[in-house]
Amino acid sequence: ATPMSVLSGISRAAKMGIFIRNGDALQVSSKISHVVFDKTGTITKGKPSITEFEIYTSKYNYNEIIELISSLENNSDHPISLAFKDENKGKPLPISNFKNHVGFGISGEINHKTYYVGSDFLLKKLLVDKEKMKIKTSHNVYLFHENHLLASFLVSDMVREESYDTVKALKKMGIKSILLTGDQLLTAKKVARQVGIDEVYAEVKPQEKQDKVIEMQQKGYTLAMIGDGINDAPALAQADVSFAMGSGSDVALTSSDIIILNTNLTSIPKAIKLSKLTIRNIK
Ligand code: ADP
Ligand code: MG
Repeated sequence: ATPMSVLSGISRAAKMGIFIRNGDALQVSSKISHVVFDKTGTITKGKPSITEFEIYTSKYNYNEIIELISSLENNSDHPISLAFKDENKGKPLPISNFKNHVGFGISGEINHKTYYVGSDFLLKKLLVDKEKMKIKTSHNVYLFHENHLLASFLVSDMVREESYDTVKALKKMGIKSILLTGDQLLTAKKVARQVGIDEVYAEVKPQEKQDKVIEMQQKGYTLAMIGDGINDAPALAQADVSFAMGSGSDVALTSSDIIILNTNLTSIPKAIKLSKLTIRNIK
């Protein structure tokens, strides 16, 4: 039977907006040595906007480019999609054969032409060498069609107000924070610096996120992972304790032990403190 103290821990957490789906997680949480954070939508607000762009074709103007991308992004629930949907003034174009390349981007057909929107990984896989030269490494989202780069963007997101204090509170408890993201290194490093994280892994594909977690577990770390996306699901399932942002995708929510319904990151140190109290009561 579940000890009374675990039940009372779960109910105290619920009052703080922290939903504990798995009672064992409350006990494991007391032993956490490292917290691994996803970036987009977790450390950041998940409401990105376009801060820079470049267009490499004379066939389309800025508004037409945005119309193409936002029509594709209409089928995506990745936070990046919001930056383009918000920017679009026109009506979305009909899309066929939409594909979600999780951790890389999306593709689909508009007027029988296939367009891709995504990271430079996706780009490098599909582009001819001449086009690869054009890649602006400071940009993180690219639009291309038939081996031609049409446009590139820097899509950036503000960090959550409480991210810095969360990392600081964890440090005080002797817990180290790590940033693990599919986004490019420059953006990742900037965000890490802003919130006081000094260990960063960027340009990490979804499967590699899980591998990275395994690698750290083999070093003897007890890991909590926190994420919001489909791309985080394998790593969330692997971690010793997993947290999902309440605003996250369904897959992230169902892969997690603890859901932060109040979407406030300070819930993580709070949940860990609560678990330590709970364990003390059990003993
Ligand atoms: P994170 O780990 O930060 O949550 P992801 O693994 O989901 O990031 O995505 C990694 C990269 O893939 C993004 O930075 C972006 O370049 C690209 N990408 C993924 N999904 C999309 C999308 N819907 N539209 C545009 N680019 C995308
Ligand atoms: Mg994310």
